[in-house]
Amino acid sequence: MWMGERIQWGNVTVPYTVIWSDEIENRKPAVVIERIEGQRLPMLSEGIHQPTGKPIFKMLHADRCREVVNHNLCQMCLDHLPVRVVTVTQGQQDRYRPLVSDGLPMCPACALEALASCPGMQRQQASGTLRLWLSRRGAWLLAPVILAIASESHGGHESINRLLRSYGRPVFTGPKLVLTQWRLVSPVEIAEEVRATTPPPTPQHPTYEPNSSDAAERTQPHPDTPPTP
Ligand SMILES: [Zn+2]
Repeated sequence: MWMGERIQWGNVTVPYTVIWSDEIENRKPAVVIERIEGQRLPMLSEGIHQPTGKPIFKMLHADRCREVVNHNLCQMCLDHLPVRVVTVTQGQQDRYRPLVSDGLPMCPACALEALASCPGMQRQQASGTLRLWLSRRGAWLLAPVILAIASESHGGHESINRLLRSYGRPVFTGPKLVLTQWRLVSPVEIAEEVRATTPPPTPQHPTYEPNSSDAAERTQPHPDTPPTP
């Protein structure tokens, strides 16, 4: 993991959770047992960590998604999440609570950056489906998702379908986040949150570095000092 490092593609920040073309090409899916909300579950692992080629923004790397969630990291900048975080949905709910899948937690400033650079989010915003949620870090439950065999046209992948057939028992992915505390916010409110939580720049005081010429000046008698007899 590149803690605190942004991954750039041209001048766009690529979320750490996004899968790359070489990872799709060389996918070696496997099952790993992980503990989610106290339960040990068979989870999908991509079996490869090779973020090279081109980022596929619509698809996520299962292991890296769990990594950011487990370590409370922002998926954009990989820094530790601040106290108040932004998640994104398109209206999905678990009963009445927002259900977050690919819009995993971000720092408010990173959420604004994502909105400014991601055509997909901009389309959702234009069509009125984009939901931006401000909530406290960790104020969510983890909901693993059962993987189903799916055709390529429905987002499936033959290597994963083969794995599911051979494993013979349910395999999980995700998890999705069920927010337990949330507030629907606008980009303007997120910008206000960024301003409110950004410390003001420290004033720059000129620093005094004594050097030999200053020291020499200081030993000169002041012009008004009467000459010593
Ligand atoms: Zn961030």
